[in-house]
Amino acid sequence: MLQTMLDKNSETPEQGPKEIPQNTMVKGIGVSVGIGIGQVALMERLVTEICPCRILTPEEIPGEVARFEEAVENAEKRLKTIKSHIDSDHPLEDHSYILDTHILLLRDKMLYEGTKRAIEQGRQNAEWALSEVMSKITAAFDSIDDEYLRERALDVHFVGERVLKILLGVSSEKKIYQLPASTILVSHDLSPADAAQLKKESVLAIATDVGGRTSHSAIMSRSLKIPAVTGLEKISKLVKTGDTIIVDGSTGLVILNPDAEMIFRYRQRQELLRNYHQSLLAFGRLPAVTSDGGREIRILANIELVDEVDIAIAHGCEGIGLFRTEYLFLGREDLPSEEEQFEAYRAVVALNKPYPVTIRTLDIGGDKIASSLNLPLETNPAMGLRAIRLCLNLRNLFKTQLKAILRAAHYGNCRLLVPMVSSITEVHDTKIILQEVKAELASEGTPFGEDIKFGILVEVPAAVAIADLLAREVDFFSIGTNDLIQYSLAIDRLNEHVNYLYDTLHPAVLRLIRQVVNAGQAYGVSVAMCGEMAGDPVNVPILVGLGIDELSMNALSIPLVKKMIRSISYDDCLELTHHAFQMQTAQEIHDFLEKWIFEKFPGDYFLSQQ
Ligand code: PEP
Ligand code: MG
Repeated sequence: MLQTMLDKNSETPEQGPKEIPQNTMVKGIGVSVGIGIGQVALMERLVTEICPCRILTPEEIPGEVARFEEAVENAEKRLKTIKSHIDSDHPLEDHSYILDTHILLLRDKMLYEGTKRAIEQGRQNAEWALSEVMSKITAAFDSIDDEYLRERALDVHFVGERVLKILLGVSSEKKIYQLPASTILVSHDLSPADAAQLKKESVLAIATDVGGRTSHSAIMSRSLKIPAVTGLEKISKLVKTGDTIIVDGSTGLVILNPDAEMIFRYRQRQELLRNYHQSLLAFGRLPAVTSDGGREIRILANIELVDEVDIAIAHGCEGIGLFRTEYLFLGREDLPSEEEQFEAYRAVVALNKPYPVTIRTLDIGGDKIASSLNLPLETNPAMGLRAIRLCLNLRNLFKTQLKAILRAAHYGNCRLLVPMVSSITEVHDTKIILQEVKAELASEGTPFGEDIKFGILVEVPAAVAIADLLAREVDFFSIGTNDLIQYSLAIDRLNEHVNYLYDTLHPAVLRLIRQVVNAGQAYGVSVAMCGEMAGDPVNVPILVGLGIDELSMNALSIPLVKKMIRSISYDDCLELTHHAFQMQTAQEIHDFLEKWIFEKFPGDYFLSQQ
């Protein structure tokens, strides 16, 4: 069985898959364990790439002009609807202005008249005419040395694309749920909105050119138990629909053109892993108490969608430690109503009763883009107007969500979690709005959870630095390591090129966590962790030793984490943690923990790395 290792950076796209030898391996980042073997379904990159081009007959021209005008009118109506949703009592000034600008740009002379002229004189169909005009505008602005003007070109492009999508009859988000059954999805990238539409039954595995381990698409694929590899750089150019490939989400390898022997070998590994995960399930039903009875850690699940609750319960979660509610807002043109949100939150709360459900308020921004909000593009979205910052600006939107959460809290054990807090002021402002909403519900006579617990995600270094001050304001902390690591180590979590620096065991990260735990303990505030770090077996003993009260993770990790906690003593964890804090580098700590775990759990260690 011959193997070829392909350099991801080699210039091979135009060679096409026929030139690729059998068993060619491409290495990326394994972000969701498991193995997928099957045929590729290649997702198109850009809507403009699939733009149909056609020369019109003279009789067709008036109809085509009318079709274009109608698409512009539709785009205008949608923009106005968005504006009416978010603009009434506490407008996001800039945003409101941008919406107005976009409405005006729809009839921009170059864009609107230019497209009509291309239809009438160039006899081009509307999509073709519009995309040509858009390209010309972009090219013209690109050569200008003024940043402000270049940004206006982006606005024109944004508006043009909106009209183009209406003409093409596609949603603002890419639609991928029409994938043929049982295929391997290969794409340049995958937005969280795309990932949320995936159906486990139709996707055997995912392979993308870009993306890191804690991107939300990666997190989503783990939740859905779909094996995935990201950061493959050119995989979308190397394969075509119908090719057979193997995706190994544990090692990060993708094998192109596998021969029969390779497929056989991977089928055997698939079987081994399936049996292993099956054998762990029994541990999910047991409490995570250390072997000396010294400590019990509550183990909860992270979910993005209501549908995931069943999987989480089947794996033994003791409630939901993080419900990423923004997924209700992704991949659609409109905003979910209070009623729709209430039904979703109530369903999750009821299904988990008597265990708690931690509902995180909207964390839009970064890689999670809600096209319904039509937010302006930002140069640095991870540090931009996202999460609580956005909610405090879009007050109506926030109030609607808080109402729905408070109403759902009446039906079980519900906690409120606020993302990306970086100051006491944000906590105070949030509490004021929460009080207003409670008062409104009370005056309407609507039942709601008056005593809902109030917590914050500690995921910005500033929040760690003032954890002692924040602890006096909240009922609980939840450490969001995905962002905390991103911001403290200055590593873009979506960027595959710096993924190698993303280290949960960096001494700086461990010290930040210890600071939060200390503040929590000093003020009687429980400390949870809901970042991806919580579910990685290598971190379990040190997190126990650090004194974390609750770990919330991807459902699939729950049984192994429970098994591990039940087999280790609290004293050993304290000693191990003390030892690790004497070390200077992440690598030293990692090697030390890995050795410790390997000695205690040789079989599990081997298989969890598979
Ligand atoms: C985190 O940042 O660790 C977290 C849990 O939130 P998210 O991954 O959704 O940003
Ligand atoms: Mg976060």
